[in-house]
Amino acid sequence: MKPFDVIIIGAGSVGVPTAMALAENKQRVLVIDALASPGQGQNKKAIGGIRATHSDKAKITICQRSIDIFSTWQEVHGDDIGWIQNGYSFPAYTDEDAKKLKDLMVIQKSFNLDIDWLSPGEYQKLVPGINMENLKGSTYSPGDGSASPLLAINAFYFKSLEYGAQYKFQEKVTDILILGDSEIKVTTDKGRYTADKVINAAGSHARLIGQMAGLDLPVEPDSHEGAITEPVQRFFGPMIVDLRPSRDPATADSSNYYFYQNNEGQVIFCLTPKHLIQGTADESTSVFLPQVAKRMVALFPKLTNLKVRRTWRGQYPMTPDGFPIVGPAKEYPNFINAVGMCGQGYMLGPGLGELLTRMVTNDLTDGDLDVLKHFNPYRDFSGIEHFK
Ligand SMILES: Cc1cc2nc3c(=O)[nH]c(=O)nc-3n(C[C@H](O)[C@H](O)[C@H](O)COP(=O)(O)OP(=O)(O)OC[C@H]3O[C@@H](n4cnc5c(N)ncnc54)[C@H](O)[C@@H]3O)c2cc1C
Repeated sequence: MKPFDVIIIGAGSVGVPTAMALAENKQRVLVIDALASPGQGQNKKAIGGIRATHSDKAKITICQRSIDIFSTWQEVHGDDIGWIQNGYSFPAYTDEDAKKLKDLMVIQKSFNLDIDWLSPGEYQKLVPGINMENLKGSTYSPGDGSASPLLAINAFYFKSLEYGAQYKFQEKVTDILILGDSEIKVTTDKGRYTADKVINAAGSHARLIGQMAGLDLPVEPDSHEGAITEPVQRFFGPMIVDLRPSRDPATADSSNYYFYQNNEGQVIFCLTPKHLIQGTADESTSVFLPQVAKRMVALFPKLTNLKVRRTWRGQYPMTPDGFPIVGPAKEYPNFINAVGMCGQGYMLGPGLGELLTRMVTNDLTDGDLDVLKHFNPYRDFSGIEHFK
């Protein structure tokens, strides 16, 4: 008998909750990561936003399950992971944006999402002091929330150990040899391991891992920077997503940005550059903070005197259409991909971990098969996700 049922490559946003779900279901799991401890790839770069408010059924379904797991974690397992149900909001400052958001809301409501349109006055009550000039209103989805990516991944990691998962840290996967439908050998810079199945959860490096199995997965990481302030008393409610690209020449190189106040009272935020910066460089730039701060203060002047404690830079492992790639390779059904999480891997992780477990144990439901159609590795990637 082989020592492991499943080897997961990557102890990140997807790999760790997947190991937890697999081990809970009596699968013998080994997780291999090149870094020193769980969540040291892109997981710790996430700002902690968790929403079911997406534009398609598959992401909505997975994230609804993730929200169940994040929101009940402390009650069920005891650890505080910093969960707060602060909701998400997408304010609109043009009639065109208001229409787009309202049209999308019809689809979102048809998937039973708890989301509504707030008038400018109603929105001002949630975010007192928000710039009211030209504000047309905002979506508000009170069931969405946030939690600390560091606390959450550690909670999932320790739970997975309790269920029997094993980990090898500081080991880089260098080769994969698929020997048939139920035998795969994974070589690292320190050893060689055999299992029935392998799950590629290598985030920004997913394409390289895919190539080791003869696949060309269209996953390209691009740069995003984030920052966090000192903690202060709570002074606004939801995550605020400003979808507008900047029209001010001083900040013109930026697209949308988003921010919220976490459970500790810190404001945490990030920005999407207009011209994507591809690659895995992760040194902070001197451009990000002045750019995002100018825009945030113009939108919400109450932020003016907050002190920023730290900035960082990470990546979204992007796919051409903004949807993840989840499913087995055609030629090798025992090589499963769970990659291309874009800007949402942290929120997708727990729900996806359970779906991957059902895939491994051959217990996929009709609902899962429907989700997997949207995440199919062999789709044509011509679609577009509005909130990617
Ligand atoms: C600024 C910023 C803000 C973000 N905010 C949010 C947010 O609010 N909510 C949200 O859901 N998402 C957010 N994201 C996106 C989120 O961080 C990613 O989508 C997510 O972490 C990707 O998860 P993953 O498991 O695919 O990759 P990772 O978490 O990066 O895990 C992959 C792991 O694979 C390992 N690995 C790779 N290659 C090898 C190899 N050859 N051998 C061994 N190990 C290997 C890596 O070391 C890494 O630990 C944000 C990202 C950034 C940069």
